[in-house]
Order: sequence, then structure tokens, then C-alpha cells
Amino acid sequence: MDHGLIKRIDFVFHLEKAIENGEFEVYYQPIIHTISGSLCGFEALVRWHHPKLGFLTPMQFLPSLEETKQIYHLDIHIIEKVCQWYTTLKAANKPVVPVSVNLSRSDFESEDMFRVVESMTQKYGVPRNMLNIEITESAFSERESLMASNVEKFRSAGYQVWMDDFGSGYSSLNTLKDYVFDELKIDMGFLSDMSLKSKRIIRSIISMAKDISMVTVVEGVETQEQVDFLRNIGCDRMQGYYFSKPLPY
Ligand code: C2E
Ligand code: MG
Ligand code: MG
Repeated sequence: MDHGLIKRIDFVFHLEKAIENGEFEVYYQPIIHTISGSLCGFEALVRWHHPKLGFLTPMQFLPSLEETKQIYHLDIHIIEKVCQWYTTLKAANKPVVPVSVNLSRSDFESEDMFRVVESMTQKYGVPRNMLNIEITESAFSERESLMASNVEKFRSAGYQVWMDDFGSGYSSLNTLKDYVFDELKIDMGFLSDMSLKSKRIIRSIISMAKDISMVTVVEGVETQEQVDFLRNIGCDRMQGYYFSKPLPY
């Protein structure tokens, strides 16, 4: 068997043990309010301290967990860790900001994620407006009714649902038409070259998002030039290495 396949099988078979052993860590990346420059939230991003393979980033293990529909075990664990983090800070009278967690489409196929999130937030006393749900736009390319009912359930209960990676796939505009999201995260691919054309595209996306009452975040912000540009065009929030890489809290 090739080496990559062995690794992928290892990820899937050892997932539950790895969760029990505490091998996963949540890294937090700040989200910044453009006008004030203040911190307005964090995105929770998982990291794996694998006993044999060392430090792993999501792209190394998420695809195998998604393909085999095992990712929900990990996502439930991450939601619980974020809720515990909130409770610990609150108990210590430290300031808290909302945290967004990433959910994959297969989470919704395997579990009733709304029920899971509700039971976690109730168990740890986390207000619904402190936990946001990020779903990548490609998750909406299939199983539309399942995704629609979940987005609706979360939103009507008082959670914010954000569309992640807007512009990275092909289904974006249809998805925006058919669903209601609170926030639009624009894919960093657009920012990478800062050409006149990409600037015009971002400006138009931001103006369109405002027209349909969505808050805008651009992720992948790395330079002062990008910050100045986003501030000029009225982007609400920014996230990227310019402010901080994802880090342990
Ligand atoms: P995402 O949700 O779009 O998260 C943003 C990714 O961009 C993160 O990669 C982050 O580290 C990276 N990033 C942030 N700022 C910059 C920047 O200025 N420049 C560049 N080049 N990159 C930047 P990461 O942490 O490797 O995560 C990759 C993807 O894995 C995430 O993309 C998300 O889709 C997924 N993911 C991460 N954690 C989880 C999780 O707990 N559950 C699920 N289901 N998916 C997760
Ligand atoms: Mg995300
Ligand atoms: Mg993204």
C-alpha cells in the first residue's frame, strides 16, 4: 500500500483514540473590526499533535476524515473545547468575544449538528450569539434541503451562520440567492495579487453583500496595502497574518 494511503487509514482509525488522548488543539485567529481596529471575534482552527507524524494542519487530515464521514467526531470535540474555553474565561472574569467554528457538509449528513451545538452551549452556559457557525460555500453544492434546513434552524435559534470561502467555487451566487447568511467571508484567493481586476471584483462583492444585508469579512489579509484598500471600500472585518496567525489562546 502506498504511504499516503496508510496515513489516511491511520487518521480515520485512530481518530477517536486521538480525541481521548487530547491530541487535538484549538488555535484561535483574531477577526478585526476594520474601522476601529479592535478585536471582534476569533475563528477556531484545529491542529493535531500526532504522536508519530508530529504537528499537522487541517489540510493534511481533514480530507480523509471528510471522505469517510468521520469528521463529525472531531467537530463535536472542537465545539466542546471552544465552549469550555468560553466558560474558563468567563469564570476568570476575562473578556470574551464570539468564536466561529467550521462545520463540514458531512457533519450534517452524520449528525444532527443543531442538536449537538444546542446541547453543548446549554451544558457550558454559552450564549448563542457567542458561537458562530462557518460553512464553506462548496458545502451547498449538494444536499440542498439538508443544508437549508440546518442553516434555518441555527439562524432562527439565534446563532449566526457565515458563508466561508466565498468565491472559491462555482455555486456562490446561487447559494447567496437561496439561503440567508449573516456574514460573508470572502476567499483570500482574490487578495493574493491585488491587481486592478481583483480589487474591482472585491469592491463589487462587498457592495453586493451590503445590499443584501450581509456583514463582510475578508480573510487572508497580509499587507498594509490590503488593509488600506479594504478600509477604503468599506469591508466590515478583516482576518489574516497581518494581524496574527492562528495561535494557541
Ligand atoms: P478556513 O476556514 O477558510 O480558514 C482560514 C485558513 O486560512 C486557515 O488555514 C488559516 O490558517 C489560513 N489563513 C489565515 N490568514 C491567512 C493569511 O493571511 N494568509 C494565508 N496564506 N493563510 C491564512 P488552516 O488553519 O490550515 O485551515 C484550513 C481549512 O481547514 C479552514 O479554512 C477550514 O475550512 C478547515 N478547518 C480548520 N479547522 C477546522 C475544524 O475544526 N473543522 C472543520 N470542519 N474544518 C476546519
Ligand atoms: Mg473558516
Ligand atoms: Mg475560509
